[in-house]
Amino acid sequence: MLQISYRVSHFFGVVVILSISSVVIYWKSHQIRFTYSSIANPTRQQKTGIPIKACPKKSPYLVGPFVFHHFIGTLEDLNNKYEKYRPELGGKFKPLECQPRQKLAIIIPYRDRRRHLIDFLSHMPPMLLRQQVEFTIFVIEQDSPEIFNRALMMNVGYLEALKQDDYSCFIFHDVDMYPINDYNIYQCSTSPTHMAVAVEKWKFGIPYRAYYGGVVAYPKTVIEKTNGFSNLYFGWGGEDDDLGSRLAVVGLKFVRPPAVYGRYATPVHSKDKGNPEAPNRFRLLNDAKRRIWYDGLNSVVYNVSKIEKKKIYTHIHIAVDRQKLEESVELKKREP
Ligand code: UDP
Ligand code: MN
Repeated sequence: MLQISYRVSHFFGVVVILSISSVVIYWKSHQIRFTYSSIANPTRQQKTGIPIKACPKKSPYLVGPFVFHHFIGTLEDLNNKYEKYRPELGGKFKPLECQPRQKLAIIIPYRDRRRHLIDFLSHMPPMLLRQQVEFTIFVIEQDSPEIFNRALMMNVGYLEALKQDDYSCFIFHDVDMYPINDYNIYQCSTSPTHMAVAVEKWKFGIPYRAYYGGVVAYPKTVIEKTNGFSNLYFGWGGEDDDLGSRLAVVGLKFVRPPAVYGRYATPVHSKDKGNPEAPNRFRLLNDAKRRIWYDGLNSVVYNVSKIEKKKIYTHIHIAVDRQKLEESVELKKREP
């Protein structure tokens, strides 16, 4: 697979450097790197079935900054594009040449964003394969007509993914945020990680210091500690700050990658119809720290209406009954 990357260089001459897997051209203040990697081809070890060794701590295939492009095509085109990586049904991708260190589930809260989803499915797998990560993308779609509840979809995604496999790392990911530097590694450390630190729509920054939205990585153990996420944020806003409060309650701090790595392209979009601003979000945030013990994984209720194991991802449809859910949280609160 040929990768082309560009960066501004501090070197002003003209030089061409050749190595086995790359050609780097320096010209005036430009650096253009052509990297060839064979990750598309199964290695001899894979074909012979002899156990393969653990993936290195740092993948040799990383290229640094890379570009986000809209994908012109259909899901079927993407299925064909990724066939050579031999994903298992439901979209489990594994590096072909080594044994991955973690099992990653990417959870996408989703409704009615087909174009963004196609772009996501086009953009992510090549980067994750370069990072030598084992991953499955779970799209958790909330059925209409109830108001959208992003954090609830994250709880559901976590529980449903664990019914499929023993994932050790979870990345909760907006469908419209596209990483553009592959040094932002999609793996979990022991701390929760806020990955989206240089976001295009905020001039490659974040809106406020404590911002904890967009893309967050959680080892399984931390999600258990925080009782997952709040179930009560119907509508836009607040739920990501609530996540941050939960961490504080259990005495954890999130970490961030350096801003040069945590860069995300974000397409401009209008507000979704079924996701008006949550009017009660400030009230909820005010007592977020108290609710952690009864509003979360231990009180969530939902129905799975359909699980579609597609070739390159898993699409789970969820029916939500707001009244039942709120009652369930209330009941848990009253438990002795
Ligand atoms: N989302 C969705 N459908 C909706 C509303 C939200 O799929 O109707 C998901 C989607 O993953 C999106 C995320 O929730 O990226 C955050 O919502 P939004 O993009 O409106 O937030 P903002 O752009 O304001 O950060
Ligand atoms: Mn958005």
